[in-house]
Amino acid sequence: MNDIILSVKNLKKYFPLTKGLILEKESGYIKAIDDISFNVKKGETLGLVGETGSGKTTVGRTIIRLYEPTSGEVIYDGINLVNLKENEMRKMRRRIQMIFQDPYASLDSRLTVEDIVKEPMEIHNLYNNNERKERAKYLLNLVGLNPEHLNRFPHEFSGGQRQRIGLARALAVEPEFIIADEPVSALDVSIQAQIINTFEDLQEKLNLTYIFISHDLAMVKHISNDIAVMYLGRIMEISESNEIYKNPLHPYTKALMSAVPVPDPLKEKGREKTILEGDISSNINLPNGCRFRPRCKYSKKICEEIEPEIKEVSKNHSVACHLY
Ligand code: SF4
Repeated sequence: MNDIILSVKNLKKYFPLTKGLILEKESGYIKAIDDISFNVKKGETLGLVGETGSGKTTVGRTIIRLYEPTSGEVIYDGINLVNLKENEMRKMRRRIQMIFQDPYASLDSRLTVEDIVKEPMEIHNLYNNNERKERAKYLLNLVGLNPEHLNRFPHEFSGGQRQRIGLARALAVEPEFIIADEPVSALDVSIQAQIINTFEDLQEKLNLTYIFISHDLAMVKHISNDIAVMYLGRIMEISESNEIYKNPLHPYTKALMSAVPVPDPLKEKGREKTILEGDISSNINLPNGCRFRPRCKYSKKICEEIEPEIKEVSKNHSVACHLY
């Protein structure tokens, strides 16, 4: 159960900035992912958390090479995905599927649910036509939809139901690993918990491994075994989910945590809160030293001069901050 299935090592993804339409001269880089490493264990979930601009979505896309990595390794089940040729990577995408944030935009409105769910099976040349239809029905049932709705179109479904269709489509090719990019953030709060529960049920039934990307720490806590907190392309803190909640160390994690409401109103009232001031900086012109420094109330001299490396400060708990 605790075998590492995915190991990301020193991964970087820099997007070149180009000046002018004709010369297309490179004038710097957006450092969307800037040297990150983490492991995901088989059958478990890693929550990847951070604000917009932290690079978490780019991590998901770079793992499955929708973006080509600038450097680093992505070892999946002993294979370095970075070295795979395009046709080999296409086969690998059967094993690693990605679910996107917006259930409205990610489904082709001209196709019926049957065609949407069957499409990945056709692309990967799996099953015959009758089997594909039967499998589409089975999958709709599995994700909590009525199999009789195969002939309907996406606009006939609610947002939550559309995300379930997206899930059925991802599961069509029997993946082992799913990267879910903000899969519930476009949905009503009342629906979010139901979809998260479906993800959890499916994980247990199908022994799936997840990377669950979200800006919402409260939401990933429920589903994650481990949590990595990202800021401007770097992992600032990584540990087991319970440890991060009980004992957040990095000032950024503490600020994110204090935005999570506590269910007990009395405790919530008396709780000390850290308000995160200012916006996330640009990852084109990063500040000297610690990249969180412009928003950090604990900043000291060394923080201006040296970027802190991530290091293990207690068992399975690593943090990138000069306070530790
Ligand atoms: Fe704050 Fe310094 Fe830690 Fe960065 S290294 S988070 S500036 S205390």
